Amino acid sequence: MSTPLTPVLSDTWDAERSWTLDAYRARGGYDALRDALSRDPADLVQLVKDSGLRGRGGAGFPTGMKWGFLPPPDGGPRYLVVNADESEPGTCKDIPLMLASPHLLLEGVAITSFAIGCHHAFVYVRGEVLHVYRRLLRAVEEAYEAGLLGKDVLGTGYDLDVTVHAGAGAYICGEETALLDSLEGRRGQPRLKPPFPAVAGLYARPTVVNNVESVASVPAIVARGADWFTAMGTERSAGHGLFSLSGHVVRPGQYEAPLGVTLRELLDLAGGVRPGHELKFWTPGGSSTPIFTAEHLDVPLDYESVGAAGSMLGTRALQIFDETTCVVRAVTRWTEFYAHESCGKCTPCREGTYWLQQVLRRIEGGEGTEADLDLLLDLCDNILGRAFCALGDGATSPVTSSVQLFRDEYEAHITGGGCPFDHSRSALFE
Ligand code: NAD
Repeated sequence: MSTPLTPVLSDTWDAERSWTLDAYRARGGYDALRDALSRDPADLVQLVKDSGLRGRGGAGFPTGMKWGFLPPPDGGPRYLVVNADESEPGTCKDIPLMLASPHLLLEGVAITSFAIGCHHAFVYVRGEVLHVYRRLLRAVEEAYEAGLLGKDVLGTGYDLDVTVHAGAGAYICGEETALLDSLEGRRGQPRLKPPFPAVAGLYARPTVVNNVESVASVPAIVARGADWFTAMGTERSAGHGLFSLSGHVVRPGQYEAPLGVTLRELLDLAGGVRPGHELKFWTPGGSSTPIFTAEHLDVPLDYESVGAAGSMLGTRALQIFDETTCVVRAVTRWTEFYAHESCGKCTPCREGTYWLQQVLRRIEGGEGTEADLDLLLDLCDNILGRAFCALGDGATSPVTSSVQLFRDEYEAHITGGGCPFDHSRSALFE
């Protein structure tokens, strides 16, 4: 099989001190910015539209279209906010990207800001990853010193300030409007949409909120063109992206490949499921996407195909679980995360995730009844589509999909009075 890897974002990660400006520039870094600054901003927006780049934060909304939603300039400020608050269980692509190649992100920030007429951009990074925060701060400092940020970028007359802001460790602050509230100094809770941030975002001004990987994908599109990008991936899911393999896999890590690659192909590259074991279930895009099984090994990992197969591409966080894993236990752990992280603003999510957790713990502990399975599905019905933001909906995905696919395993916990698995066998880091 020919290798499907397409290292673009990850191309320089193996370079010595890859995070420094010198290393980044030695590989042509910031050439795309120089080129972009000589173009018409509207042409850059059109270029990204033509590329078909879709938001890499999970939802897959077309990036160029989002930029195009900004109202015409009115003389006031407009902002770019990079969502670097990656926190979805299993999702682990933006943090390595920023650690290995912070200047790739900053070059994308500068090009995007220029394209949308922004003079002050923000990077909101999750507070727990202090090392990433420090690395970004140092990269911003280097870029200012080199005239790549600040007044008169590269002598073109364009001014751009970049502020890196560390959150305080709340999953909800990855939701774009909660992130904006947090950035403004308030408690992070989602806002009602519409208005979307494009119209009224940071400080009620037009704002583009883009994921790290989306912004970092822009320099290569400027350098190589829309046709290069659309030649990869599928017709409606163009380009390449980072696929993060974790769990019961021989070589966990980041695999950059065209959208439409399959888990079977990625597992071939990653050495397969750990020896002597077989795939039981997996997540295509983090824990808030319905789980898949070995039946889905050949589903092309693009937005349309994963959707048609009953899940979502999400953040391409492929968590692999072999037959030693108790699905009830895994789903209970994810649900505990959502219940803990629910911001409490809306009743369906606040109460619903709490009760999901209670019922799941009861089943996992061998004290559940057959009626609890219907109760779980009923609770999910009452959350899905009724929560204020995507957190509630996401919390239901692993529960409903696992009850559908592994009902017998839930029943075994109920009839057997406890968990039939020896958890020491499934330890992920033995
Ligand atoms: P969404 O579909 O509501 O919005 C996606 C983006 O498109 C937003 O930026 C939104 O402002 C914009 N948008 C949508 N319609 C618009 C319109 N009519 N006008 C202007 N802009 C518009 O999705 P969401 O709630 O922002 O995100 C949900 C996704 O987040 C999930 O699919 C999940 O995969 C992902 N997620 C990621 C993480 C992580 O750690 N990266 C964590 C949790 C969830």
